Amino acid sequence: MDDCVYCKIANKTLPSYILYEDNDIICVLDILPPSKGSFLIFPKLHIEDYTILSDEINQKMITIAKYISIILKNKLKFNGLNILLSSGETGQRYKHIVIQVIPRFKDDNIRISFNRFREDPSFLEELKNYITAELIKMSQQYLNSEKKEEKKETKKDIDYKLLNQWFEKRI
Ligand SMILES: [Zn+2]
Repeated sequence: MDDCVYCKIANKTLPSYILYEDNDIICVLDILPPSKGSFLIFPKLHIEDYTILSDEINQKMITIAKYISIILKNKLKFNGLNILLSSGETGQRYKHIVIQVIPRFKDDNIRISFNRFREDPSFLEELKNYITAELIKMSQQYLNSEKKEEKKETKKDIDYKLLNQWFEKRI
């Protein structure tokens, strides 16, 4: 995208303080940081929809967030951390997927606020059932595609064994 600031940083049209880069992602210091040491991680390609991001890039981004946080903690002695991933329409100027890592310090006056509401318990129950059923379906599809389907066990409870196997294979 021509007017996207993240694309410009990724293709070096804009100068930046690069902390890490490879073929897929880039990590830079935030030049307008909400707190000292804040940094940004984003895919080099202009991807707006988090749900279509590859598992590999997703994992790379969160892994580099962790390791740079370890290094920064030694230097800046921050007391906490917020990690904010934005993609698509979130009120941001650019829709490019970006992870902001924001070190938090005592009395830093940063307010991250949400207008919370009491959700309807029947909707929570319905949503929980829908999501867990879909997760199981997803993991079964994945394992089937790997041709490593195990004996199907019929259980009333949610079978997290398959999910665990799925996650293990993806890491
Ligand atoms: Zn972009």
